[in-house]
Amino acid sequence: RRGTAGAAIPMALGFDQVTQRFGDVTALSEVSLSIEPGEVVALLGQSGCGKTTLLRLAAGVERPSSGRVLLEGSDVSSPQSFVEPEQRGVGLVFQDYALFPHLSVRENVRFGLRGYDETSAEATALRAIARVGLADLSEAYPHMLSGGEQQRVALARAIAPRPGVLLMDEPFSNLDRRLRDVVRDETAALLKETGATSIIVTHDPEDAMRIADRIVLMRAGRIVQVGTGEQLYRQPNSLFAARFFCDFTEIEGRVLRGAVDTPVGRFPAGDLGEGAQAVVCIRPQAIRLTPKGFCLPGRVVTRRFLGEVDHVLLAVSGFDRPLLARVSLTGSVREGDDVGIDIPTDEVLVFPAGDT
Ligand code: ATP
Repeated sequence: RRGTAGAAIPMALGFDQVTQRFGDVTALSEVSLSIEPGEVVALLGQSGCGKTTLLRLAAGVERPSSGRVLLEGSDVSSPQSFVEPEQRGVGLVFQDYALFPHLSVRENVRFGLRGYDETSAEATALRAIARVGLADLSEAYPHMLSGGEQQRVALARAIAPRPGVLLMDEPFSNLDRRLRDVVRDETAALLKETGATSIIVTHDPEDAMRIADRIVLMRAGRIVQVGTGEQLYRQPNSLFAARFFCDFTEIEGRVLRGAVDTPVGRFPAGDLGEGAQAVVCIRPQAIRLTPKGFCLPGRVVTRRFLGEVDHVLLAVSGFDRPLLARVSLTGSVREGDDVGIDIPTDEVLVFPAGDT
């Protein structure tokens, strides 16, 4: 389904109990997910967890071993109702951009418009090129372009036919850090502007947080947690999910009378049962340093200036590792200083041990 003018007509996309096997490897196990029309979703997870496989199933270049892929509520993946990739109205951006080296920017974008008549293909291609800010480079060839520009050509080619669904596989992984920031924000704006239902595959939580309405965290072929970036960051449902979004200081301990005693404090154990082995996760940016005499006493072992924040490693009596704090200090503590360490209890997460 394609919009006739302006924005795409976004499609609802669904996965219903999708399992995908490749020989002995189970790439996806009973994955179910519903994506609203116009929603931007990030598939987040480590290498090999099945993100790309899920994307390929949506595109129709892979057929599920079992389960269904749904577009606008219709089964497009079963043998009797299979819809071919080019009939799905789905745009694709590959990790390596897959541009044709012997075609100009304009010709690359036009390639996505086969089936359009000559004049409207030309006009549509130029409009898409202008939209990603490359109007001046429409006659250039891919080797003449920077990585960021090549990424924008790939994006222009994908959005030119106004697909209802846009699928992007690691679209920022070939960009250096500075460029990545810019391109990521531009892409986020463009996705909202085109209105297409979008899936972005990434292993970078920051990509996911910046660009997606909802994040789908995956692990070993399964969905671990689905939510907004804020929900996953603040309320991770497992130690695995928590670690994905933050470098905690983790301290093991046992639950006694509803709380876990650690060398840096006593923290409520939540739902964990009496006697359970627990992992207490302390967020570096939750820690406040106060003048000595208040709170938990500690000493600054190292302080590293990192611009907006300082990284401070703290020694605490009875704790055999340094406690990491990330604080805005503007130079007020120095190495060797004695300080008070305030760890707000409601910022601390507690999970069952072994839940990795
Ligand atoms: P990456 O970030 O490395 O691309 P991913 O999360 O996208 O990883 P997938 O590419 O979906 O993961 O792969 C999931 C699993 O399925 C991996 O173990 C992979 O080796 C396997 N796999 C994927 N495609 C095939 C295939 N065509 N044949 C055999 N095994 C495959």
